[in-house]
Amino acid sequence: MHDHARFDTRAIHAGQEFDPTTGAVIPPIYQTSTYVQDGIGGLRGGYEYSRGGNPTRTALETQLAALEGGELGLSFASGLAAEDALLRTVLAPGDHVVVGNDVYGGTHRLIRRVHGAWGVRHTTVDTSDLDAVRAAIEPSTKVLWIETPSNPLMKISDVAALAELGRTAGVLVVVDNTFASPALQQPLALGADVVVHSTTKYLGGHSDVLGGALVFGAGLGDATGAGSGRTELADLAERVTFTQFAAGAVSGPFDAFLTSRGIKTLGVRMERHSSNALAIARRLEEHAGIERVFYPGLESHPGHELAARQMSGFGGMLSISLAGGGEAARRFAESTELFQLAESLGGVESLVNYPSEMTHASVKGTEAEVPESIVRLSVGIEDVADLLADIDGALARL
Ligand SMILES: *Cc1c(COP(=O)(O)O)cnc(C)c1O
Repeated sequence: MHDHARFDTRAIHAGQEFDPTTGAVIPPIYQTSTYVQDGIGGLRGGYEYSRGGNPTRTALETQLAALEGGELGLSFASGLAAEDALLRTVLAPGDHVVVGNDVYGGTHRLIRRVHGAWGVRHTTVDTSDLDAVRAAIEPSTKVLWIETPSNPLMKISDVAALAELGRTAGVLVVVDNTFASPALQQPLALGADVVVHSTTKYLGGHSDVLGGALVFGAGLGDATGAGSGRTELADLAERVTFTQFAAGAVSGPFDAFLTSRGIKTLGVRMERHSSNALAIARRLEEHAGIERVFYPGLESHPGHELAARQMSGFGGMLSISLAGGGEAARRFAESTELFQLAESLGGVESLVNYPSEMTHASVKGTEAEVPESIVRLSVGIEDVADLLADIDGALARL
């Protein structure tokens, strides 16, 4: 039934069946590490030890796969744990990754410093420029890593075109869908092979849990070389499932529960995040102290048309470049009141972040460095009038 249901229905029901023992509408949190066996190897429902499987995590993984329209979902302890499990499974020393030049700083750091130390090479490229991506792909390239909208400059990359390019080159196409969330963008339907999430952000949605996810699409075959699609997908998904089990970066039952709980309101939250962010983007665009507003919902954004085509809303993230440079940017970031100064994003509460010293401090001095004039806003779902008043106050203090 849930396979055919629409997005908001799937978000609430997929994997979330009531408890058959008690009728509890909400499936219980299976806060257990192990499971009794009915004789050696006699497992009830396939569960043996919670690193390998836990019903609360299974419920979330089913929900995640249903949201992204994928074949398999895997839930991890954090977004970076998910990224690491995927990259470690796919890559060997000497392999090459093409990664966006404006991705989450931690993703860049993971590829450059952790996988780089094991002989994995990478090239950073503007993934909104198809020719640049094509030129960056080498014979040893195994992965094309895309983040759209990107972080923090909100660049929009053409997922369908990049997926096509990746397929032709025999490269695995991975999309970090954290910023848009599956409510606004469905990369697998656009042809991507694997979707990555930091569920810490919009999926969890309440800044109270850390988590990550991978969702595998149905048409992976051609992306990893010759052969039949279904077999290649099953093979990669199975190998990553093994890495998750063998390396152990799984989400705990309570974290999985909180994430499932958050997901149920994702659709309505994203609508409000989007409308609040658009109102704030328009207000900021009018002010002389703001050099540029980076929000794909604005007609002035170079990726606006593409975003309108591949997304069903523009989301709650925006960045601004302050005319007064680094000093003005710091002053702005430190003078809002409702927008609290903190890393992270995607929660119901509004946050302000100064990327060059906070979320993106790890990429200072690299090709992914963020200019000092940039401030990033995660627009929450508070009353928009209060948020606008807060922004006006910070602009007045510039
Ligand atoms: C936060 C974030 C990550 C990393 O996720 P964690 O849960 O913090 O490990 C990856 N990608 C994007 C776009 C993020 O915002």
